[in-house]
Amino acid sequence: MIEKDVVVIGAGVAGLSLSKMLEKSNIDFVTLEKNYSIGKYGNRIINKEIFRKLDMETDDIIRPIKKMKFYSPSEIKISKESAIERGYVINLRDVEKRIYSQIEDKKNIALNHAVNGIDLKESIVSANGMEVKTKIIIISSGCVNNFESIKNSKRVLCYTKEIPSEDDITVILNNEIAHGFYGWVIPLSNGNIEIGFGSDRLGKDISKASLSEMLYKLPYLHKYKDIRPLRELGGFIPTSIITPMSGENWIKIGDVSGGEPMMGGSIHKCFDEAKLSFDLIKRMLNGEIRSLDIYDNIWGNKIGSDIKKQESIRNLIDSSKNTEIDRVFLSLVDKEIEGEGLINNIFKNIITNLQKIKARPM
Ligand SMILES: Cc1cc2nc3c(=O)[nH]c(=O)nc-3n(C[C@H](O)[C@H](O)[C@H](O)COP(=O)(O)OP(=O)(O)OC[C@H]3O[C@@H](n4cnc5c(N)ncnc54)[C@H](O)[C@@H]3O)c2cc1C
Repeated sequence: MIEKDVVVIGAGVAGLSLSKMLEKSNIDFVTLEKNYSIGKYGNRIINKEIFRKLDMETDDIIRPIKKMKFYSPSEIKISKESAIERGYVINLRDVEKRIYSQIEDKKNIALNHAVNGIDLKESIVSANGMEVKTKIIIISSGCVNNFESIKNSKRVLCYTKEIPSEDDITVILNNEIAHGFYGWVIPLSNGNIEIGFGSDRLGKDISKASLSEMLYKLPYLHKYKDIRPLRELGGFIPTSIITPMSGENWIKIGDVSGGEPMMGGSIHKCFDEAKLSFDLIKRMLNGEIRSLDIYDNIWGNKIGSDIKKQESIRNLIDSSKNTEIDRVFLSLVDKEIEGEGLINNIFKNIITNLQKIKARPM
């Protein structure tokens, strides 16, 4: 059995961000990752703040974001443009590789080590026949995990296709087809776009063919039906928060503890949680605190309030009929969308008006 001060389980954005911080502080740790290599393919949108926090470089930008349009179920359009870049389309693979490249001693990231047992009481983690006795266990294994001791968060399955075409960033709301989520278009480099959608109606038993059929049922995406995809992907997004997130000797960070229910801010959540847990790890190893279970409270004060706000926004959209969403879009179509941001401000305007419409139904 080997001994470490900290064991991190999973080398996604959350685990890698934390690993980088631990290495910089000369903390004795190992990160166990089940895959053979770092970097999972998938297009993501991030804002400038998280781009900077992750020490990303301009090479990593697939596209800057200045424009955004939203479609209602009946294809009523509202849009917003900004004179300056509001965020970037990047690839998750490049984010993970960038953080990994900044970790100097690669021996600290043990690839091909699938964790198959976590003994929280004895503080032992087992992976591929190896056992690590540790003071602190950080679980950053994402939202698809099979640990008995860890409850999965509610998840939404997303399905995407990359096709050769041109478009702007687009969000398509439709509660009948994509209940619980929405469809989207993300422009990539080289004249390709990603089209996709997610819904809590999508379960494991749905075939790829029917996923594809559902994708094109969103009216705006129908026009892309006959274009041969270059790539098809699926993935899960967590949509609820799972508590407790911490105990005496452990903390869950990133998607494993759940996620922001909309607006795709999860990479942000991963980084912020890595930083929060890092501060507590240092205090624990310095003998300032005896238990990590204060993490839940600290998380609630710092990040939780934002997520709770998003959760109520999400519930409001989920509980709305397509006709109600259409009415809101109609009322916004000729108006200036208030606020400086793009995606958040459009959502904020839709929500304020949905609340008004629901308060005085037709
Ligand atoms: C289609 C889609 C679109 C998205 N769009 C956006 C977006 O636009 N903006 C945004 O900010 N976020 C977006 N997200 C979410 C974002 O990608 C995630 O929140 C983030 O990447 C999660 O990182 P993580 O480190 O928590 O988990 P993961 O990336 O899942 O990493 C967990 C790691 O743990 C490893 N692991 C799992 N089990 C074990 C085990 N037993 N032993 C060892 N290792 C293990 C896995 O191999 C994996 O590498 C999107 C997600 C999807 C699916």
